[in-house]
Order: sequence, then C-alpha cells, then structure tokens
Amino acid sequence: MDISLVIPVFNEEESLPPLIEWIERVMTKNAYDYEVIFVDDGSSDNSWMVIQDLSIQKTNRIRALRFRRNYGKSAALNKGFEIATGDVIITMDADLQDSPDEIPAMYDLIVKDGYDLVSGWKKERHDPLSKTIPSKLFNYVARKVSGIQLHDFNCGLKAYAYDTAKDIDVYGDMHRWMPVLAKWQGYTKIAEKVVVHRPREYGVSKFGPKRLISGFLDLLSLYFVGKFHKQPMHFFGTWGLIFLGIGALSLLYLTISKMIYKVGGIQDRPLFFFGILSTIVGMQLFLTGFLAELVIEGRGKNYTYNIADSIGIADPTLSG
Ligand code: UDP
Ligand code: MG
Repeated sequence: MDISLVIPVFNEEESLPPLIEWIERVMTKNAYDYEVIFVDDGSSDNSWMVIQDLSIQKTNRIRALRFRRNYGKSAALNKGFEIATGDVIITMDADLQDSPDEIPAMYDLIVKDGYDLVSGWKKERHDPLSKTIPSKLFNYVARKVSGIQLHDFNCGLKAYAYDTAKDIDVYGDMHRWMPVLAKWQGYTKIAEKVVVHRPREYGVSKFGPKRLISGFLDLLSLYFVGKFHKQPMHFFGTWGLIFLGIGALSLLYLTISKMIYKVGGIQDRPLFFFGILSTIVGMQLFLTGFLAELVIEGRGKNYTYNIADSIGIADPTLSG
C-alpha cells in the first residue's frame, strides 16, 4: 500500500462526496495503491451515513470508524494512525480546505527524499483575521520553543513516513503541534511544503476562540515537557530544594536568635512568616515533583476510545 489518507470528520456531510471524488482523481492519475480512512469524530449530522454510502460505491478503498462521541481531532488522528497501513500516511481536513492535488509532491518528499514528516504551509490563507494573526504569533513562539523552523505548525495537511505516524502519540489538542511530537520521537527530518488553501465551502469551523487559550496552554506544556522531558523532579525538585533551604535557614536563624541571644517576640517578625511560607511552598513543589514522576510511570499508553461502528477493520477495539 503506497498511501493511507487519514481524514478526521466532524459534521462534514456535504464536503465528503466531492472530497472523495477529488481524491480518487488524483490517486488514479498517479496510479497509487491507496486507502482512505475516515474517522468520524462523533458527528451529529449525516456524515456517517454518507461515509457508509461512499464505502459501498468505492469498494475496498474506504475504511472508517465512528467514535461514539466527539473526542476531538487529536483522538481521531491517533486512531487513524493506528489502523493505517500505507508506506506514507497523509492527513487532511475533511472540509475541502486542503487540496488533494498536493498529495503527489508530499508523497515524493517522503519516499524519494527520505523525510520523516512533511508539513503543509498555508502561505496564502483563506481564514478570518481573528485566526491568522494569533496563528502568526503562535508559530513564532513554537519555532523558538521547539527549534523546528516551520511557518505553519497547525496545517491539517501533512505527510508522515509510516514509522513516524505509528510512533507519534497525539492526545488532548496536541494535533496543533504534530512536528514537535514527531521531533520528540526522534523524527527530525522535517520538511515544509507550500500548499494551496481554500475557503470553507460547506459547514462551519469546529474550533472557536477557545483555540487561543488551549493552543497557548498546550504550547506551555510542550515547552515544559520538552525541557524536562521525563524528569519533572528535575524542575520541581530544584525549586523545592531552593524554597525549603531558604525557609529552613530563616527559621533556624530565628530559633538561634531566640535561644542564644534571648530576642523575644519572633512571631511578629516578617522573617517568621516568610520562613514558614517558604518551607510550605518548598514541600509543595517537592510533592508535585514526586506525584508527576508517579503519573509518568503509571500512565503508559492507556488511551481508549469507544467505537460505535467500523468498516473493514477486524478488531477496532485494538488499543494503543
Ligand atoms: N474535526 C474533528 N473533530 C473535532 C473538530 C474538528 O475531527 O472535534 C475535524 C474537522 O471535521 C475537519 C478538521 O478536523 O476535518 C479541521 O477542522 P476545522 O476545519 O473546523 O478547523 P479549521 O480549518 O477551522 O482550523
Ligand atoms: Mg477547516
């Protein structure tokens, strides 16, 4: 199998039929052996019905599964990657904003030039300013934080070498930062390709203003996790020790001055309260570090999603 297309779908019923026709045109022209994997992310419109119809019309090309509820784009991609079998795994949005015409060039960058990941760059973007301006800022910060020189981290159109896609574990809303996740897994040959971006024809955008806050917080945790990777104790422990040390010294000083020099009334000296506070904060940081270490050890790969239906998948409950 040359290409698996992984397409997350959340209420995109009108877009799916023209999308699949377009994909078929491109794939046939280039004689690719391909599969299209739709992951219906708990749509409340007729998306799943449309996918069922399409899978009957295009025998053996479409595999699909439907989440019982809306888990988010990251979960959809995660599950899609798990069942994909192509040498190259390409993700694209279902809303026709990404052009299937980009597929051959992206495929070649992976197969011929040996890239681990090729990220689309919506250089000319057809989205409202409320989206494009914050996006510029985010991409700037992401470049600084990750050291990956991309203009457009969050482009839905991306191509992955088989291993890259299989080893990325995307969760929460981290689909915005796939290149960073890839880099963490050791896939550092990352290329960028300018892609055509089209205005949305049908339906509405699924990400509101909330994207700003969650995108920013995710970037923060990327920075933190990236910097202290699997050792949160290195961060919390260091600061815990500093605060504990300062607190202990302050209290020791007060105790000594009381006992030896008989200075009275230490309870209304600012240093007394500072010492107590610093000790408590230090303990808190330490405990947070311990807890974080425990969480990391116990977490493993335990994401599970409830799957309502599937097409062409022997055991869709296979977890990973
Ligand atoms: N999507 C999804 N689950 C969600 C939200 C979005 O699977 O909870 C899919 C959606 O159907 C589309 C893609 O993710 O295929 C990108 O979403 P959208 O076009 O709304 O994002 P935008 O282009 O506005 O950034
Ligand atoms: Mg879109």
